[in-house]
Amino acid sequence: MTAKLPDTLSMMRDLIARPSVSCTDPHFDQSNLEVIHLLAGWLETLGFRIEIETVAERKANLIATLGDAGNPNGLVLSGHTDTVPYDLERWTFDPFAATERDHRLYGLGSADMKSFFALAIAAARRYSAKDLRQPLTILATADEESSMCGVKALVEEQKRLGRYAVIGEPTSLQPIRVHKGVMLESIRVRGQSGHSSDPALGANAIDGMYAVLTELLAFRAELQSRYRNPVFKVDYPTLNLGSIHGGDNPNRICAHCETQIDIRPLPGMDLEELHQTLVSRLEPALAASPRLSLEIQKLFDGLPPFETPADAEIIRTCEQLSGKPATSAAFGTEAPFLSRLGLETVVMGPGNIEQAHQPDEYLALDQIQPTIDLLSRLIERFCAVPHPVSS
Ligand SMILES: [Zn+2]
Repeated sequence: MTAKLPDTLSMMRDLIARPSVSCTDPHFDQSNLEVIHLLAGWLETLGFRIEIETVAERKANLIATLGDAGNPNGLVLSGHTDTVPYDLERWTFDPFAATERDHRLYGLGSADMKSFFALAIAAARRYSAKDLRQPLTILATADEESSMCGVKALVEEQKRLGRYAVIGEPTSLQPIRVHKGVMLESIRVRGQSGHSSDPALGANAIDGMYAVLTELLAFRAELQSRYRNPVFKVDYPTLNLGSIHGGDNPNRICAHCETQIDIRPLPGMDLEELHQTLVSRLEPALAASPRLSLEIQKLFDGLPPFETPADAEIIRTCEQLSGKPATSAAFGTEAPFLSRLGLETVVMGPGNIEQAHQPDEYLALDQIQPTIDLLSRLIERFCAVPHPVSS
């Protein structure tokens, strides 16, 4: 039955050969359907029940399940089908050719994270439905690198996927149980232009921004004294002033000034609450200048922080099987969304994040066998043997 399934390296090549860039700029954005259908075909061959869920135009999630899909205690091996855009001139190799060189496989998505699917399938092919007491689900999402519309659609419909999830982002097979969230905000002060010789002729937006920034820095200091988490290298929430633009001419009163900031909240901090606090803290800064107005806007929906407790079963098991302690990541993932679906989630996969989002991205070939072995043991542990079920 598995005769129709290509070998692992061929699957990796086939996945890399199908471009699936996702990007907020429509000029670079591509469909992920070819990757979805390729995976669906292989998994169907192995006896998985296939569900393809359209989430946007030319974008879909794949939910493939082996075993009793009605049993809520299964294991989910999850990844994203898309890649970031690429800068062809900076690549030595063809990003879609999956070139093997120096014990590495070079290609766009080789580390982040198409190879993971091939390795998950290689682990899964050792089992058939009758071996499994709990179901095994392979989840392939759309647009993780841009809008996260794939995983968000699953949250919206409160999809029941299982009890445990492993997201195979490149962590060199070290379990990750926490990461910070991301919030990007635009803060605009609007005033009125006029001749510089008489301040009364206008309302100066830069003066207003000065008051706003003063309050913003006080807010940052407060956040950093209130929240700490020693699991992170930078153990406090950061607030970065990323850009500022305003005015045009020294002899004109500045009518408009904008600053953009990046906040990285710790687990336990709520994005919406943080946004509301930001608004209520900054608005009074302009109270003394009625001709100035303030506008605070989210630049994207935001990524919530993620945390699975250190003593959670998925974390302990992954620590034991990988031989590495669970730690934090400096990058964001779909983990907070899978957590919202009730999945005990860990991030752990082959390849190094340092090679992700880079020209000449590669996966070291010596990661392949350890990953297949590790995933097989996870399937064995969570699906193939009787497993204690809490209510
Ligand atoms: Zn990724």
